[in-house]
Amino acid sequence: MDLLEYEGKQLFARHGLRVSPGRAATTVEDAVRAAGDVGYPVVVKAQVLIGGRGKAGGVKLAADESEARQHAQNILGMDIKGHIVRTLWIEHASDIASEYYASVLLDRSAKRPLVMFSVEGGVDIEQVAEETPEKLIRHHVDPLLGLSREEAVKIAADGGVDGDVVEGVADALVALYEVWTAEDATLAEINPLIVTPDREVRALDAKVSLDGNALYRHPENQSLSDSENEDPIERRAKEEGVQYVKLDGDIGILGNGAGLVMSTLDVVAQAGGSPANFLDAGGGSDAEKIKQAVELILANDAVKAVLFNIFGGITRGDEVARGLIAAFEDVKPSVPFVVRLDGTNDVEGRRLLDEAKLPNVYPARTMDEAAEKVVALAAGQPVGAAA
Ligand code: GDP
Ligand code: MN
Repeated sequence: MDLLEYEGKQLFARHGLRVSPGRAATTVEDAVRAAGDVGYPVVVKAQVLIGGRGKAGGVKLAADESEARQHAQNILGMDIKGHIVRTLWIEHASDIASEYYASVLLDRSAKRPLVMFSVEGGVDIEQVAEETPEKLIRHHVDPLLGLSREEAVKIAADGGVDGDVVEGVADALVALYEVWTAEDATLAEINPLIVTPDREVRALDAKVSLDGNALYRHPENQSLSDSENEDPIERRAKEEGVQYVKLDGDIGILGNGAGLVMSTLDVVAQAGGSPANFLDAGGGSDAEKIKQAVELILANDAVKAVLFNIFGGITRGDEVARGLIAAFEDVKPSVPFVVRLDGTNDVEGRRLLDEAKLPNVYPARTMDEAAEKVVALAAGQPVGAAA
């Protein structure tokens, strides 16, 4: 889960890394107001999940209100390598004496966190790594001990920073390492980490990726996930704790267990259909969970028919049936459902569905039969009587 610059900077500030004061804005007027609050000169910065914003014209200094307005107008709506700018970050401009580079990430082959540092910041770090590798310090950290101040001081000194900022850079590295571990980040990068003329060390940019699977440990970071290109239904699913992935087709899918759902996608594709989503309802799906899942699947307008493929192990067929019946009473879907119920309490489940006589629900005994039926229904073909 990639964060926008200003979201990354919020995490930096939380761990004592210095950043410039600023405000986010989504309209020109908003941006001008923000600039006034922050105090001129300001930098108007495009918030998109792609680097090289500066070169693309998405980072501009403004000395006064008219310049701020001009830049906000130009940058809002700008297309930076396919990313449309919808949010600006307005921060108080910094004077720059030096631009460094710092990052923390996981080196999978070494099985250790890796701290990288260079005094050649503000530029493409891949280029530094390629052309002048001796200028890129790479330091592996013992994950049980963390990055000590002594190590950080050594990295800064080996990197060749000016003597008077060794301590300041070391502080920044220790704080960056803390961001990476405490926030469950997979990447925490600053480019550039600047030194101001009055010798303060500050993060001028932030690139942070968080481990989405660890997000449950950070409720305070939950709201950071509203990034530009995340699908709104996927976002909702995440909030509700449902495993949902949007796909391109028109057949909604629900199954229990990731393996079963993936085979269901395959079987539907084999029958000539195109799945609209992956949704794993998990084990022990109660009525409330099924209802939630049905609502998520139907939130996608492309869905023309839905396949429920349940193989009961821990999940009980009768419980799923009850969930479906309750969901239908509430949601009243307008598209047909095919339901295959097998495994624990399947007979009871099917009996409940039979008795409920839900409109537009078609039972199927096998996965193949279910797939064929749902593909036909999605194509608007009749498949015989509903349940
Ligand atoms: P990127 O191009 O997407 O990496 O965006 P950055 O946030 O790194 O900004 C690009 C460049 O703009 C930086 O390397 C700086 O040289 C310049 N820049 C950004 N903020 C400031 C600022 O406050 N003052 C000055 N003088 N330059 C800035
Ligand atoms: Mn940058």
